Amino acid sequence: MFDDTIAAISTAWGEAGIAVVRVSGAEARVIADSVLLAIKPLSETPPRYMRNACLIDNNGQVLDKVLAVWFRGPKSFTGEDVAEIQCHGGALVARTCLEMCIARGARPAEPGEFTRRAFMNGRIDLTQAEAVLGIIRSKSEEALRASSRVLRGELAEYLQDVYHEILSLSARLEVGLDFPEEDIPFIDDHEASLNVLTLKKSLEDLLDRCRTGFLLRDGIRVALVGRPNVGKSSLLNALLQESRAIVTSIPGTTRDVIEEVLSYRGVPLTIVDTAGIGIPADEVEAIGIERAEQEFHRAEVRVWVIDGSEPLSRADLDLASRIQHLRHVVVINKADLPLQTKEKDLDKILPASPVFIISAQMGEGLEKLKDEIVSMVAGTGALDSGLNTSSRQIHELQTSLKALEEAWEALEKGLGQDISGTCLSEALESLERLLGIQADDTLLDTIFSQFCVGK
Ligand code: GDP
Repeated sequence: MFDDTIAAISTAWGEAGIAVVRVSGAEARVIADSVLLAIKPLSETPPRYMRNACLIDNNGQVLDKVLAVWFRGPKSFTGEDVAEIQCHGGALVARTCLEMCIARGARPAEPGEFTRRAFMNGRIDLTQAEAVLGIIRSKSEEALRASSRVLRGELAEYLQDVYHEILSLSARLEVGLDFPEEDIPFIDDHEASLNVLTLKKSLEDLLDRCRTGFLLRDGIRVALVGRPNVGKSSLLNALLQESRAIVTSIPGTTRDVIEEVLSYRGVPLTIVDTAGIGIPADEVEAIGIERAEQEFHRAEVRVWVIDGSEPLSRADLDLASRIQHLRHVVVINKADLPLQTKEKDLDKILPASPVFIISAQMGEGLEKLKDEIVSMVAGTGALDSGLNTSSRQIHELQTSLKALEEAWEALEKGLGQDISGTCLSEALESLERLLGIQADDTLLDTIFSQFCVGK
């Protein structure tokens, strides 16, 4: 338990219907009562019972009509007594209410401090605390659902199981090491190695679900590349079903990089239309081409657009050689015209590439293209089981997985159970940091500083 009481405005700044000032800590009710005038104070009101009240200033003047409620710890969000005052949503009234609470003894809450207290008081574990942030930041329904799965504890439960299994395997290895005179290890290398393999598989499956969740939140960056005038802007327009990029028949009009976000199967796709890669005619175009180059490497998927009404040119062949080792799809555009470049022509230069024949102008063939882009990155994993996790969480999972791999290798190579035991300890440590079993202040500061004040 913390010995101070904190307060903050928990709703967004600015004008709104209502604003909520939240106070948490042992003095929460007393502080709330000191700024309110009501038939009965919160101290005499049962918890979770809304009360009508007036917000009064130092001179006893009524500032606003409000609703007030309190929650008794530990059955509250933070695990301690919490009072909430719902005033009208003007920035001034909410701020005045907060300032009065502070004048009566509350301390202004740090970013994420309510959630941090919830974690410190054992109301939620660290995966759930981070999921709160995921929920706040979700921009699509799918990302929201993926965060909600984590908040409800799906990730934590799964991790807890793996954690306890690693712990029990470590214990069995240790017993064998502590009583070497028995001459037979309590668990032989083969059995231990099989155990580690199963654990490894569990973490790999989990990591897949986290990667999917990450995808649902951050999406895929897709660069449209190709010679000028092949129909990149038209393709972007067709994908967006609206015109933003200028479509003209003068080569090289897309001087800069234009990007738009659309959602497909819940995955945000950031489509970047580039100026085309070629020899610049002037300085402005040179800048565009440089940025196109950056996008070419930055994107997760490149869509190489070819003008199907013309035969492949030298520039096309150059691009083919540059793109072949990067993740890409090929689009033969202008299929409404007689085709001079066909699938078989591409087979010769890029035999393994997925090829789509489309007409950007007619809006044909786009569904399959988007489908391929998402499958390429998401794999065949079900998008509806994604877990929205932060890059920190994915990193810890990867570290744990790597340690399990090393433990497995040590057993397979007969390097000794003590070495694999050390690796298992490392795997455990990562999971502890994930769950917050082992979390130092620096780690917690890093996590909670990303929250807004009032959360
Ligand atoms: P970009 O320079 O690669 O961005 O190419 P644009 O999108 O500006 O298109 C260049 C020209 O090709 C324009 O005149 C478009 O109308 C035309 N165009 C684009 N897509 C198609 C298509 O599918 N069919 C036909 N017939 N023309 C197209």
